[in-house]
Amino acid sequence: MKDTVVNDCCTGSSPTKMLSIDEGLTRILGAVTPLTESETVTLDSAQGRTLAQALISPINVPAHNNSAMDGYAIRAQDLSAEGDTRLQVIASVLAGHPFNGSIGPGECVQIMTGAQIPEGLDTIVINEISSRTGETVSFPAGVRKGQHLRLAGEDLGKGQEALSAGTGLGPAEMGLIASLGLAEVEVLRKPRVAYFSTGDEIRSPGEALQAGQIYDSNQYTVTAMLRDLGVEVIELGVIPDQREALEEAFQQASSQADVIISSGGVSIGDADYVKETLDQLGEVDFWRMAIKPGRPLAFGRVEDTLFFGLPGNPVAVMITFLQFVKPALKKLLGDSHWQPQQFQLPCGELLKSQVGRSEFLRGIIKADAEGRPVVHTTGQQGSGILTSMSRADCLIVLGPECTGVEVGQPVWVQPLKGLLSC
Ligand code: AMP
Ligand code: MG
Repeated sequence: MKDTVVNDCCTGSSPTKMLSIDEGLTRILGAVTPLTESETVTLDSAQGRTLAQALISPINVPAHNNSAMDGYAIRAQDLSAEGDTRLQVIASVLAGHPFNGSIGPGECVQIMTGAQIPEGLDTIVINEISSRTGETVSFPAGVRKGQHLRLAGEDLGKGQEALSAGTGLGPAEMGLIASLGLAEVEVLRKPRVAYFSTGDEIRSPGEALQAGQIYDSNQYTVTAMLRDLGVEVIELGVIPDQREALEEAFQQASSQADVIISSGGVSIGDADYVKETLDQLGEVDFWRMAIKPGRPLAFGRVEDTLFFGLPGNPVAVMITFLQFVKPALKKLLGDSHWQPQQFQLPCGELLKSQVGRSEFLRGIIKADAEGRPVVHTTGQQGSGILTSMSRADCLIVLGPECTGVEVGQPVWVQPLKGLLSC
């Protein structure tokens, strides 16, 4: 999706710019330098970490030619030109028990899936087409040389790159590293990310609410998304709208973390207040992003630490995290090109949209009457309706030029829930 800068404008005493997604992202990624410090961890504790160096395979995978099926390992030369082939079975070969004897012309072995192919044999005939009588097996014409073999190194050859630097270690990568026999792996150190919520009205779960107060959901959505990314989270709790408290939180966070994330206090009205605190501690811009939800966003540095000031509204926090913070953290972890996955689906309902900003609606992918996928909204779309995120399995993205969508028209969709993490 390509956005353009919408306009620049100033509001009151705090200059704020209306930025497109692409412009915001370019500025953010331009400020991120990938981590280089690494550590060696055991494979057991490597899940969710990021490879510091390319992983070169020390062995062939599989290590030896082996059978992909239960059946008989034969020599293709012994196949009859026409009609049935009849061979003498001289041994039964199991996985983990190689056969080292010699096999003469007209002889074969019974073989199990995964068992090493004996020297000189080159083809597997599956049980399903074989008929065995005593020590003789026969099967009809039509067997092809080399069938049902898994060749040594066909997955990975010795010396070949198995995984590139910057790869996140999910379930498939964990298994792949194990298949190379490696019990330890060199990963980037975990980025340290400090998070706090701001607001006099915000209370932590478990506390009693007074009139006008609400519970802190942002702490839980943001730190859960951070943990999914494999970063170390420093939770600083809820900071009231007071200069000294905010200053202390920012100072504490910047002394410990690579990145600080806060929520709330960046919309017009609050912005001057947080801005005053940040003006003394670093360089932070207050942006008006051309997106809905999530218009106010602060980004910059507090001392040497990157800072994201996310909006307060619970849905806006999640959307801005996914569109702006996640790509930045991915770059910090060595993946400079990460962007949310995006594909098109027909829309199952009429949608309206305002030109000049990108809109992120919460969507559910369903099957239509013919079983084809279509996307619907989850219903109510307010930026405080957190149930819309919980119900959604995707975000529907309407670009800044979109005025609305007819039923059946394609829309861009970003999946929220994948089959595998990383
Ligand atoms: P603000 O940007 O601070 O003006 O907050 C915008 C809206 O988000 C207000 O309705 C806040 O009460 C709400 N909000 C701010 N922080 C949180 C939080 N941590 N959890 C839930 N809602 C919040
Ligand atoms: Mg607030």
